[in-house]
Amino acid sequence: MKLKGTKALVVGMKRSGIASAELLAREGAVVRATDLKPLSQLPGAPETLDRLKIPFAQQTPEAFEGCELIVISPDVPADIAPLEAARKRGATVVGDVELAAPFLRGRTIGITGSNGKTTTTSLIGHILERAGLPVQVGGNIGKAVTGMIDDSRPDGWNVLELSSFQLETISEFRAHIGLALNVTQNHLDRHHTFENYAAAKGRLFETQIAGDHAVLNAEDPVCVSYAQRTAATVHWFSGVREVSPGAWLDGARLVVNGRLLMEAGDVPIRGRHNLENALAASIAASLAGVPPETIAAAIRTFKAVEHRLEFVREVSGISFYNDSKATSVDATLKALSAFPGGLWVILGGKDKGLDYSVLREPLAAKAHAALVIGAAASKIAAQLEGALPIVQAGALDAAIAHAFAHGTPGDSVLLAPACASFDQFTSFEHRGEVFKAIVNQLQPKE
Ligand code: ADP
Repeated sequence: MKLKGTKALVVGMKRSGIASAELLAREGAVVRATDLKPLSQLPGAPETLDRLKIPFAQQTPEAFEGCELIVISPDVPADIAPLEAARKRGATVVGDVELAAPFLRGRTIGITGSNGKTTTTSLIGHILERAGLPVQVGGNIGKAVTGMIDDSRPDGWNVLELSSFQLETISEFRAHIGLALNVTQNHLDRHHTFENYAAAKGRLFETQIAGDHAVLNAEDPVCVSYAQRTAATVHWFSGVREVSPGAWLDGARLVVNGRLLMEAGDVPIRGRHNLENALAASIAASLAGVPPETIAAAIRTFKAVEHRLEFVREVSGISFYNDSKATSVDATLKALSAFPGGLWVILGGKDKGLDYSVLREPLAAKAHAALVIGAAASKIAAQLEGALPIVQAGALDAAIAHAFAHGTPGDSVLLAPACASFDQFTSFEHRGEVFKAIVNQLQPKE
């Protein structure tokens, strides 16, 4: 991709867009920037654009005219009308990952999937770091890929969380090791059909060449289909049966290429889905040259990513877990499956039109009570009625106070709300922070 003298437009002026604009300017492109929002609502953008003398225009069809290269930020749909029109007149449309590709030094591990990306990406980063390898983690989490270029080094590893939106436009970008964790109905609003969504993620494997490695979930039909579309060597992982080459769960043991890696009980992140993430991460780390004992030791010291079944604290024998990221019924089901019982479960928030009655059975089996909060409280209570005791707590502080007062040693209080956060909080992160702040103030019982 030639950048010098190229008329380029960056669409979306958040973290990734700002880093893309910097890169384009440095490479001598003639850069413009646009966003749906006015500049005043884009933190960090005015300073950078000003320093680089990059003109900004709020997004209108005219803003797209006359450019040869358009770089879209990860949350900009690749098929909006002005982009389609620009493509028709010969403009190239790429995402930040593709723009960064020729400049990123070292080898790359790319992780995609509908669920578990952040956890698996962080885990791989942690293992490589523990192994003493030069590594940086970013992409869809933390640093934008375009912002990782300066710190990349020829002997280093770039561990990247990649969304389907970022992968949609790649052709030069290539992962030396690519992982597909699972592909389920997600983001259909943006990709319109499941086939488009699956195909976008599959690009990660199509750009690989012989000598690269693809790590695929053997139990997910879409991931399995990627094996037909890659020149890379395929490695499998499975939570239910022996696979070769690859990693699987043999009862309560993690086995990598026929060798015992560790006991499942020693994996500190809870839930079966996290064992699958650990299997996938172990293969990737092993392909990066990390010996099995180092992988196992690193997994033992891995802490859950914030707000994802994150252990907060134990007070008076009662453990508190923050799974504020569980914003759907499915995610709450996964969280429940990670505990044997003794739960106080905090549910509620902004309703996304989901059916909460599927929670009845696991809650009845594992929870002392459901504590309902926020705008969805009455709907949830109505759908759970009769399955277990329900406490109308209203807000997080009252829910925590009730569970702590009635809980006994060995119990766990779990925030896994099955709802969005926007009724009482600004984001799921904010909800998790508030939960942790309240929990951290609890005084041990007399
Ligand atoms: P992502 O970055 O893809 O959203 P996260 O690591 O943040 O993934 O996990 C989000 C939620 O997805 C978790 O709270 C859990 O409920 C679920 N999850 C994580 N890993 C998996 C997996 N391997 N399979 C299915 N669900 C998973």
